[in-house]
Amino acid sequence: MKSSQESFADSLWWNESEEPPCGFAPHTGQSEVDVAIVGGGITGVSAALHLAEAGLRVALFEARHIGFGASGRNGGQVIPGLKYDPEDLVAKYGPDRGGRLAEMAGGAADLTFDLIARHGIRCNPVRGGWIQAAHSPHALEAVTTRARQWQARGVPVEILSRDEVAARTGTASQFGGWRDPRAGAIQPLDYTRGLARAAARAGAMLYEQSPVRGLSRAPSGWSLQIGQGRCTARRVILGTNAYTDGLKPGLAQSVLPVQSMQLATDPLPAELAARVMPGGVMMSETRKLAFYMRQTPRGGLMIGGRGAVGDGEDARLMAALERGMLKLFPDLAGVPVRYRWSGHVCLSLDGLPHFHEPEPGLICLLAYNGRGVALASAFGRMLAGEIAGRGEAVYPRTPLRRIAWHALRRPVMGLGVRWYWLKDGLGFASK
Ligand SMILES: Cc1cc2nc3c(=O)[nH]c(=O)nc-3n(C[C@H](O)[C@H](O)[C@H](O)COP(=O)(O)OP(=O)(O)OC[C@H]3O[C@@H](n4cnc5c(N)ncnc54)[C@H](O)[C@@H]3O)c2cc1C
Repeated sequence: MKSSQESFADSLWWNESEEPPCGFAPHTGQSEVDVAIVGGGITGVSAALHLAEAGLRVALFEARHIGFGASGRNGGQVIPGLKYDPEDLVAKYGPDRGGRLAEMAGGAADLTFDLIARHGIRCNPVRGGWIQAAHSPHALEAVTTRARQWQARGVPVEILSRDEVAARTGTASQFGGWRDPRAGAIQPLDYTRGLARAAARAGAMLYEQSPVRGLSRAPSGWSLQIGQGRCTARRVILGTNAYTDGLKPGLAQSVLPVQSMQLATDPLPAELAARVMPGGVMMSETRKLAFYMRQTPRGGLMIGGRGAVGDGEDARLMAALERGMLKLFPDLAGVPVRYRWSGHVCLSLDGLPHFHEPEPGLICLLAYNGRGVALASAFGRMLAGEIAGRGEAVYPRTPLRRIAWHALRRPVMGLGVRWYWLKDGLGFASK
């Protein structure tokens, strides 16, 4: 069985990239900075860029290469908003903080596309909007409520009938949906590399092949052990998401890493490309065990769905993903599948990203629940703003808590998959 970690080299993004690998040297010797960042995904590189732009001394350490984690493997769907609807945020955090949070998360796609333009990142940005398609009449009610909440905040989202979804996506399988025009698609590995390069140009020091093996308190803040070398920093940001290891005890046990598998076909013939997910549109289903899809930069179809519970890839689930694609788009029969790969999404039990500071100066930001491309860009900037003294982060810190049944997560999640399969079949909606 192939390990998901190593399937990176099979991905569309790795094999069809315009931004070359960053080629940052490993860290050696001793260094001293204001902020040390662990993890070279979007969270880490966005924080590094914005901290360096604010004039702080920053070092970022990535165990493998920039974009190795979810950031270089994902669906490239730049979707604004948290999984909580604006009114859910207001109910949970009050009108002021909840409103500001909805605004920040709602603006996350704008920020992402601004960063791409400002730093000239070659990552095939297309702004064709995102359709969340309802798989049942009940789910259609839920997404209509969501769309109306954004409309009430002045966002020109559309509520789509069954026929409209079919016309815009090429599949008649859905009951309707809503379209968020703020969303768009990118080549995510190129985006992450481009942001990392922008951070380096702004003065951040980035190191690849530099796993941080130890983290301890030091008189001036924190000491990080990287190979034979060390780095001392006043503050540390852990942006390791589903790839979190044992660096901060309890952090890996506070979230659930879940595999998601993806495949991409060869470029579609022109007639099919004009009908199947045309014009840069992206779609996700409302089912909990959902498929999400878009066209690739070269005009193939890319689709993702759930993967195995552990690290190894499951060929049966990959075959099920291909069958799912053909069920949605039967005309794709005979179009060769060129790439198959997977990565780990970081889930939290409450469905929200987690922002912890378990000890002074040690900051953890993780668990975007499968929606981190735009959000991690925005959260990285938010963190940098707070550290640079521009006021408290709008997103609230929560205590770091282990999930009680974490050691049993694989069998529990296996049961969870069956439970969601049942709920999906009964038409319940997920966020
Ligand atoms: C298959 C898949 C599809 C997805 N599709 C979408 C999508 O279409 N749209 C969307 O918005 N979101 C999507 N997501 C989620 C999104 O990719 C993530 O939320 C986001 O990339 C998280 O970025 P990050 O920087 O926090 O973490 P990551 O990108 O996972 O980076 C963490 C990094 O930390 C490094 N690391 C770990 N431990 C150490 C250590 N000790 N020392 C040094 N480095 C270390 C790892 O090597 C890794 O590179 C998807 C995720 C997956 C897996």
